[in-house]
Amino acid sequence: MVNAAVSIEGARACPTCGSTSASDVAELHRDEWRMGQCDNCGLVYLLNPPGYEALVEDFAWEKTSAIEKAARLDARPVLQRADLATRWRHKIGRKPEAVRYADWFGSGNLLNVGCAGASTQYPGFTQYGIEISAQLAEQANANLTPHGGYCVHGPGSEAIREFPDAMFDGVILRSYLEHEENPRPVLEQTARILKPGGRAYVRVPNFGSVGKRLFGRNWVGLRYPDHVQYFTLATLRDLAARTGFTVRLLNPVRLPLDDNINALFEKVAP
Ligand SMILES: [Zn+2]
Repeated sequence: MVNAAVSIEGARACPTCGSTSASDVAELHRDEWRMGQCDNCGLVYLLNPPGYEALVEDFAWEKTSAIEKAARLDARPVLQRADLATRWRHKIGRKPEAVRYADWFGSGNLLNVGCAGASTQYPGFTQYGIEISAQLAEQANANLTPHGGYCVHGPGSEAIREFPDAMFDGVILRSYLEHEENPRPVLEQTARILKPGGRAYVRVPNFGSVGKRLFGRNWVGLRYPDHVQYFTLATLRDLAARTGFTVRLLNPVRLPLDDNINALFEKVAP
C-alpha cells in the first residue's frame, strides 16, 4: 500500500480532529470516491462525500445497498456468499432489542437518530426520532405521535439541536455515525440532551475486523458513498473521548470477528 499526501480540491477536514492533512488510501478508491486516512488521528474517511442533499432523496440508502450487494457478489461470489450465508453467527446469544434497550436505558425518553420509519414501539419509552429522508420522517412522525413522541425531519447534526438539555434517558445511534458527515457535533449534542447518567447505543461497521482484512475492497462494511467514516475501536474511542463519552464495548470477545462495533457511550460527569 502506497499512501500519498492528499491535495485534491475540496477534500474535507477530518471529521474527528479537524486536521486537513490526510493521506490517500488508494486501494479503497472507487469511481469518483476517494478514501483517506487522517495523518493526525488515524481515522479513515471519505474525502469527498456527496453531501446531505443526496440523502434527502427517499430511500437513497436502500437503493445503494442493493446495488452494493450485487457488486460484491459479482466480484467475490464464493467468499461473499459464504459470508452472507453465515450472517446468523452475529446474532448468537443476542437479546431482543426491546430487552436490551430496557437494560441499558431503563425507561423514559428515547431518541433514535436516523430512525427510518420508526415502526417499532419499545415498552416503557416515549420515543422521538430524527430522519433525513422526507418520506421516512413523515412515516415516523405518524408512528410516534400517537404515543406522545415525534420525529424531526432534517440532518442529524442540525435537527438534534431542537431538543432541550437533559431530556433523554437514552439515544440510539444504530448504523448511523458511519453515514453522518458531521459525527462530532452530533455526539456533542447527544451529550447535551442526555440526562446525567444517560447513555447512547452506538453501532458502526468495524474497520478493524477480520472480515475487512479478508474481503478487502469487497468487505460488507464498505458502501460508496453512503458510509463516510470507517471506525476502528481506537478511532471510535478517540471520537468518544473528544465529545464527552467513555466507551463500554458490548462485543469485546467476538469483536475481531464481528463486522460491527457495538458499544454504549456513557456520558462523562462534568
Ligand atoms: Zn483526524
